Amino acid sequence: MGGALAGRVVLVTGSSRGIGAEVAAKAAAEGAAVAVHYHRSLEGAQATLARVRAARAEGEAFAADLGDGTQASGLVERVIERFGRVDGLVNNAGQTQVGPFLALGPEEWDAVLRTDLTAAYHTCRAALPSMVEQGSGSIVNIASRLGQVGIAETAAYSAAKAGLIGLTRSLAREFGPLGVRVNAVAPGFTVTEMTADLADTEEGRRRLRDMPLGRFGRADEVADAVIFLLSDASALFLGQTLNPNAGGYMP
Ligand code: NAP
Repeated sequence: MGGALAGRVVLVTGSSRGIGAEVAAKAAAEGAAVAVHYHRSLEGAQATLARVRAARAEGEAFAADLGDGTQASGLVERVIERFGRVDGLVNNAGQTQVGPFLALGPEEWDAVLRTDLTAAYHTCRAALPSMVEQGSGSIVNIASRLGQVGIAETAAYSAAKAGLIGLTRSLAREFGPLGVRVNAVAPGFTVTEMTADLADTEEGRRRLRDMPLGRFGRADEVADAVIFLLSDASALFLGQTLNPNAGGYMP
């Protein structure tokens, strides 16, 4: 395939499956060395790594629980130690949360916020000094349509994803002048393990009715938007949120 990311090192959090795995495989196909990250799915990470290597790209798998700030920043430090640099950081790992707000206890709230928002605070803080030093870098935060429209019974998840969009815009303004671009991607309903249980329910059918395209997205289609933001083809994009959502939200 192409060489849009030739010579670059890209870290994709949560690339043991789903959208992250597709981003990792496509980044490798575009010539990047890829740091594959996983939490529990070692087998998934190994499968992604096999795809990276099949594209004749360099790669390595790293484990970390991103709900733990020390592990999140440590992950980036380990990647820089191993590859000497990090040019692309994709904050993709996340956990979903569905349920009535009044049943959402403080522990669950904290766990979702830690994984879906605070982890990006830690990884960005760990990656930015070296990106600033080299005068280049691209950070892509994977938000969600739910962070834009805020549907019922997803309060912690929607709040975390809306927070990621705010983080994206603020960092874009602060680090744009230093050569680092920060953007977000807000997918709509995409068929992965995260949504497998929901797709064939009344709620899944309701969400589908919101999508003028009439079908759910695929992980590889979302990954294309991420690869664009990692590459120089998006040189003029800063603080933007791209919306591969089958028309489910039109800002
Ligand atoms: P997925 O298939 O459920 O995969 C989630 C990934 O995140 C896995 O690699 C998992 O690692 C990792 N992860 C979860 N909790 C973690 C933790 N505490 N520490 C480190 N890693 C952790 O998800 P997906 O559907 O591909 O979604 C990817 C991103 O897109 C998420 O941020 C999600 O919120 C967002 N998104 C998804 C959709 C959708 O419809 N699927 C829509 C909008 C936005 P292990 O498997 O190794 O544990």
